Amino acid sequence: MDSLRRNQYLQAIGVDVWVSRRGGGDATVAAPEPASVAATAGATTAAAPAAVTSTVASPTTWESLRSEVLACTKCTLHTTRTQGVFGVGNREAQWLVVGEAPGAEEDRRGEPFVGRAGHLLDAMLRAIGLNRATNVYIANVLKSRPPGNRDPKPEEVAACLPYLLRQIELLKPRVMLAVGRIAAQNLLATDAPLGRLRGKVHQFGEFNTPLIVTYHPAYLLRTPGDKRKAWEDLKFARSVFRSLNPT
Ligand code: URA
Repeated sequence: MDSLRRNQYLQAIGVDVWVSRRGGGDATVAAPEPASVAATAGATTAAAPAAVTSTVASPTTWESLRSEVLACTKCTLHTTRTQGVFGVGNREAQWLVVGEAPGAEEDRRGEPFVGRAGHLLDAMLRAIGLNRATNVYIANVLKSRPPGNRDPKPEEVAACLPYLLRQIELLKPRVMLAVGRIAAQNLLATDAPLGRLRGKVHQFGEFNTPLIVTYHPAYLLRTPGDKRKAWEDLKFARSVFRSLNPT
């Protein structure tokens, strides 16, 4: 990506871009990771072989899990949602982004992060070479919208988190980005404030998947002064990913 487009992305997320007077481009902004995963968004996993006997459960596939989520009635949110919001992106992506819960627009359209915060998230991801159409998967802790966008209740998280864990099992991401306190605290099983979770590489799950924490884009819309710190987090996440995939 050329520096003009990169700077446009940074400006799109509201990060000031400093251009060298000597014309050498922006020395403080490194080139984003080129998309390293083939564009297979929307590809579905092959159907599981039929169970040998009726007592052997079929292994989870993306489609069977999606059907479970869309039909889920494990918590009361199913009574107020329009539809479950499963996830979006490349099911073979190396990056997983985890948010909190669908908002009004997501509930209406059935896709995560498609409202104002979603547009900002897309711009943030583009700034590090990620795009939901090609090389990142995006999901939420909750698959149903809490009324009025209130915080998830513990019993809702308890009911829904296993779906996210099964998505993670299927995806096997190389790196995870938790956006916002709710995603970070639930994935890391901690009450620590977001400020203490940023700037570190956490380990998630049995494969010790590196997990980086940053601000939720809805918070950044309310607090644009913190966008520069979010940009630092994104560059940090990109450097962690690059260290796993040296060129
Ligand atoms: N906020 C989230 O955390 N997730 C969405 O899908 C939309 C807004």
